[in-house]
Amino acid sequence: MTAPAPLPELSEVRRRLDVVRERIAAAGGDPERVAVCAVTKGFGPDAVRLAVEAGLVDIGENYAQELVAKAEAIEGTAEADLRWHMIGTVQRNKVRRLAPHVHCWQTVDRIELAEEIARRAPGARVLIQLNTTGEASKAGIAPDEAPRLVEAVRELGLGLRGVMAVGPTDPRVDPTPGFRAARRFADDHGLPEVSMGMTRDLEAAVAAGSTMVRVGTALFGARPTGATAT
Ligand SMILES: *Cc1c(COP(=O)(O)O)cnc(C)c1O
Repeated sequence: MTAPAPLPELSEVRRRLDVVRERIAAAGGDPERVAVCAVTKGFGPDAVRLAVEAGLVDIGENYAQELVAKAEAIEGTAEADLRWHMIGTVQRNKVRRLAPHVHCWQTVDRIELAEEIARRAPGARVLIQLNTTGEASKAGIAPDEAPRLVEAVRELGLGLRGVMAVGPTDPRVDPTPGFRAARRFADDHGLPEVSMGMTRDLEAAVAAGSTMVRVGTALFGARPTGATAT
């Protein structure tokens, strides 16, 4: 067990963000066009404030409770300038509480969830989470089952913007085929956004056509103990 790491200073977060943008450019991405979503899971509202002060507007959270708590904690201060992205598995019964805060639901992987979002946040911006690695432990819908979900999400009147994918859990597995599959799926369905790439594998994701990388560790350092990745 490691002790909770303190958050870095703002100047350090800015420096690390520059490094992330350099990595995006080195992988062939245009840093102006590949968005950086700051993943603040495991840290408190101060991480959100740091990200906003560093100039980021897209903030990612995995857990409904954390998202709502942080959104409420910074209400009236930084919140006007930021957009919350729900990037973790969402239980249907959490949708109502999340709805006032979430800018983009990135993990839609089943019709029942899409229906609940459409009910509580009509027209909301959503991404379909694809499981392109075939790992049973991973959330997301298999690409060959996803066309039906694309149709259903559109019929519900949701603002389907793209897809989201998570690279393989095992760092020895090449992430490129899965990222390419996600990009191909988006292209085949006329979807502009592809959220993929984390601290460890953002180069492969950008090279495959990511439009948004989601990074936590690269900006804030190791997460406090107890925070889990998906
Ligand atoms: C935790 C998490 C991230 C960020 O991971 P880092 O390795 O800290 O960059 C991105 N996306 C999802 C879905 C996550 O769960």
